[in-house]
Amino acid sequence: DNPIQRKPEWIRVKAPVSKEYKATAGLVREHNLTTVCEEASCPNIGECWSKRHATFMIMGEICTRACAFCNVATGKPGRLDPFEPFRVADATAKLGLEHVVITSVDRDDLEDGGAQHFAETIAAIRKKAPDTTIEILTPDFKDKPGALEVVVEAKPDVFNHNMETVPRLYPTIRPGARYYHSLNLLDRVKQLDPSIFTKSGIMVGLGEEKIEVQQIMDDYRAADVDFLTIGQYLQPTPKHAAIDRFVTPEEFDAYAVMARSKGFLMVSSSPLTRSSYLAGDDFARLREA
Ligand code: SF4
Ligand code: SF4
Repeated sequence: DNPIQRKPEWIRVKAPVSKEYKATAGLVREHNLTTVCEEASCPNIGECWSKRHATFMIMGEICTRACAFCNVATGKPGRLDPFEPFRVADATAKLGLEHVVITSVDRDDLEDGGAQHFAETIAAIRKKAPDTTIEILTPDFKDKPGALEVVVEAKPDVFNHNMETVPRLYPTIRPGARYYHSLNLLDRVKQLDPSIFTKSGIMVGLGEEKIEVQQIMDDYRAADVDFLTIGQYLQPTPKHAAIDRFVTPEEFDAYAVMARSKGFLMVSSSPLTRSSYLAGDDFARLREA
């Protein structure tokens, strides 16, 4: 086991107590939905849920992969719930979301990796909440021919797929995934439909070097990735990968400056940045600009 390091003061967050937080929690329960906010023990849950912003996780709570940083259970997932897209759409409408983020566990067990289920969820939200912009955060659809096309045809506003870390650390941190496969996936989304914004993110503090982060930014830009998120990795339990170090807020700022100079349209780089953190606020600003 890897003992969990004490967090520096810039990581500590307030406990969730607001009325709005409770309302969001109530809706999530009532609709029998899973959120990544809870599954990943996200430190921003107090802030996000108070603003009625949640990230829904579809296709169950059991993943076919076992990434070393992730708190989601690994195993054999259950059957897809055909009504789930409608429950997600209903909750989106009731929460009055301007922007919704939908993610999923990895479903290597399904023939299409869950692509059709993603597409149905997008379609259901479009119908029920036509003004809500939709961001999806997808698995890599490795060895699933045609899956990516199905999801792209459903026309999400933002297609997010995280690379998580630098290529050197893939074998230990993201076994089961391939760096260039993920990069290529982002590139293909843009080629299939240039009107969709592409987005990706990494965690830092896992042992990566600054020059490797610089390289991943260049790789992203070569694949025409529009938005970038960089956040501190936090170790969920002693069974997960150990934190190499806490990256300072100043270093995060330096990464943001570097990323902007490379031409990303939107950059979020801070200790508590998560893939879906304030995604709606940022996206609204971009559309106004
Ligand atoms: Fe977690 Fe996603 Fe990896 Fe599954 S594929 S273990 S949900 S990060
Ligand atoms: Fe949920 Fe994302 Fe906010 Fe975390 S950052 S609480 S995962 S919406």
